[in-house]
Amino acid sequence: YNIEHFVIPEHYEGDVSNVLIPHGLILDRIEKLARQILSQYTDRLVVCCVLKGGHQFFADLVGFLKKYTTKEGKHLPIALDFIRVKSYENDTSSGSVHISMSEKELKALKGRDVLIVEDIIDTGRTMVALLDHLKKYELKSIKVASLFVKRTHLSNGFTPEYVGFSVPDVFIVGYCLDYNDYFRDLDHVCSISPAGQKKYFSVD
Ligand code: 5GP
Ligand code: MG
Ligand code: MG
Repeated sequence: YNIEHFVIPEHYEGDVSNVLIPHGLILDRIEKLARQILSQYTDRLVVCCVLKGGHQFFADLVGFLKKYTTKEGKHLPIALDFIRVKSYENDTSSGSVHISMSEKELKALKGRDVLIVEDIIDTGRTMVALLDHLKKYELKSIKVASLFVKRTHLSNGFTPEYVGFSVPDVFIVGYCLDYNDYFRDLDHVCSISPAGQKKYFSVD
């Protein structure tokens, strides 16, 4: 989309080069996903947000999950949970991750239907490692909703049950997806311009 046609906060003017997915389109897609999810659950659902990137998707998704009803015509009881997952960049073999949830919180998931809400699947390593870690807690069911899945040859083949959009193999920001913690406050999903990459580049 032509960037001139969209409202970009002045502090990011010149830092993004292209609007890939406008905010309104994202919301429409999430509304549809929520209705699809509601058609497949009947019991209390634990919706688990993967922070920080998944926060905006989670917030809007939960909003739509509360608005519509299940196939039985009832509103779905929802519990909210939050998890921070850090992938170890240097571990290329196993894709091990550090998970912020305590043992007590993880044990509380036993026998529950859990929906993991993630921003984007790239190689799939983070999600596979997270699901692997959750295995031993005997959840009733576990599914993954990811707003974006990247089309990359580096994919390990992991496919979430619910996908918002398939995106090209470029680094995207906005709608809570960040570049060194910048651009989370941009509503549209965009690619970064060379000027933006330079401006927010971090050396650590
Ligand atoms: P994976 O383990 O699937 O390779 O990477 C998953 C994580 O990397 C995502 O949850 C996200 O935090 C980050 N990531 C991957 N691709 C992108 C991208 O294009 N933009 C942003 N902002 N983060 C990304
Ligand atoms: Mg993420
Ligand atoms: Mg990030």
